[in-house]
Parts: sequence; structure tokens; C-alpha cells
Amino acid sequence: MLVTEKAPAKLNLSLDTPMRYFDGSPRWDMVMTSADLADYVTVETHSRPATIKVYTDSGFLPNDQRNLAYQAAHILRSRFHCREGVTIRIKKNIPVAAGLGGGSSDAAAVLRALNRIWRLGLSQQELAKVALTIDSDVPYCVYSRLAHVTGHGEQIELLPDTPHYWVVIAKQQTSVSTPQILRQINYEKLEHLNNRKLLACLKAQDWQNAVKYMGNVLEPVTMQSHPEIRRLKDKMASLGADVAQMSGTGPTVFAICHTESRARRIQNSIRGFCRDVHVVTLL
Ligand code: ATP
Repeated sequence: MLVTEKAPAKLNLSLDTPMRYFDGSPRWDMVMTSADLADYVTVETHSRPATIKVYTDSGFLPNDQRNLAYQAAHILRSRFHCREGVTIRIKKNIPVAAGLGGGSSDAAAVLRALNRIWRLGLSQQELAKVALTIDSDVPYCVYSRLAHVTGHGEQIELLPDTPHYWVVIAKQQTSVSTPQILRQINYEKLEHLNNRKLLACLKAQDWQNAVKYMGNVLEPVTMQSHPEIRRLKDKMASLGADVAQMSGTGPTVFAICHTESRARRIQNSIRGFCRDVHVVTLL
């Protein structure tokens, strides 16, 4: 049987970390949403050979157990004692190592696909539990819709749907190492967000006010060594975005606009110094 799943990019409308756990990992407090910029993940099962194979159209990605999509198939197969082989083909549209959760979303897509193919009957909550053993963004990606995500990424509260807003997603050539940024966080210096107010606005579907409380506390950490990210963000804000900010640990910056014309204007103005630019809607 063959199933194709859409794997959308995630955006952090807010990203905060109030503390570190004892093992040094951050405790997250984030509002996440997804955008209509997506990879397409096709999963096929076969009785022989009983191997997991991953093929992508990107030259930069590993095809073995380092690929998060591979890990998703491996974990689900061992957990439910399935013996079949799995072939995964990924059409990458989400920029890699961009702060857009492309790998996590591919892994979540594999979990959803195999849940259907093997008729495991797992609920989204059950899939999200399995997902946590892969990476912290994977549980959110099982849902890929507006949500408040806390803890290691395992506590997920779904929120009302996002309005039909446009988003410009721009990734510069800069490469950012997520583990390095996480190590550089100085918890005493972080300027925390008011996620409580953001959540109240989102629950009331008051997006006009919600944008005032969006933010990413890791921007100063990443921007310290990558000032070009701040320049891109400032440019997007000056062109009239409702909100312009970094996603995850960067380097991608996104601008939310309530009209397509504003989003296109931003796209045209930044094309000169940033080639990887997409204009899509929020999901
Ligand atoms: P993170 O913030 O978790 O580092 P990201 O959103 O910045 O993730 P990804 O595109 O998920 O970026 O890539 C992060 C790393 O995961 C890369 O080093 C990449 O090689 C690896 N990776 C493993 N599987 C995949 C996949 N299917 N798609 C993209 N990257 C993958």
C-alpha cells in the first residue's frame, strides 16, 4: 500500500524558555503554527526486503538512520512488531536546517502514513507520544496546526484555527547550529514574553492584538553572531509586516501579513539579498 502525506513547515509565533531541566535541555513555552510550504512524503510498505529505505530529492540529506523520517519508521515498526519493509520518498520544499522543522514534519508524516497503512488505530495523542522519542518538534508536527506547546514539546494544547493570513518565509544562506545556540542561552539575560496574553488573544481569535505579543527570546542569541538576520527582520518590519520574527533558532525570518499584496511587496523588496523566499498562507 502506498500513502502520500503533506508535511508542512512549522513557525514559532512565540518561542520562550523559562528554565533549563536538570539535564541541561530547555523547558519550552511556545505557540506554534504551520504554513502551506510543505514537503511531500510518500510511504510504501512491502513484505520483502524487510529494510527501511529513504530517498530524497535533496543532495544534502542523509538517507540512513540519521534521517528523522527513517527513525519514525524504525520506531513505529519495532514498537508494534511490524515486519514489513518500508520505502520512504521525500520531495523537499522546506529549506533544510532553517528553523522550520522540516525533518520533524517529515518524521510526523511517516508516523501518520504508517498508522494508516498498518491500521494501527493510534489517536493523534498516541502518535505524538511516539513522536517525542524522535525529536522535540515531532509531537507538534503530528497535528501541524495552531497550538501551545510546552515542556520538552510533549504538552500540546490545540488552539482555534488561524485566520487566512499570508506569510513571507525567507531563509538567508547563513547556517545556524541549533545545539550551539541552545548552549549559548544565558537564562538570566532572557527577556521573557507574555505568552499568557498571547494565548488569551488567540483563544478570543483576536489576531490584531495577538501580533503584539508574538516574539522569539532566542533572536538576540542567534543574531549576536548573525547580524544579517536582524537586518532582514528589520527590513520586513519596515515594509509593513504585521509581525516579522525569526523561527526556531533561525536563520529563517518570517513576516505575517493580512493581505497578499503586502506579502508580495515584501517578497519583491527582499529578493535582492535573499534568494530563498516563499509567499504562502498560514494553515
Ligand atoms: P532543528 O531546529 O531541530 O535543528 P530545523 O527546523 O532547523 O531543525 P531541519 O530541516 O529539520 O531543520 O534539519 C535539521 C537537521 O536534521 C539537519 O542537520 C538535517 O541533516 C537533519 N535531518 C534529518 N532528517 C531530515 C529530513 N527528513 N529533512 C530535513 N532535515 C533532516
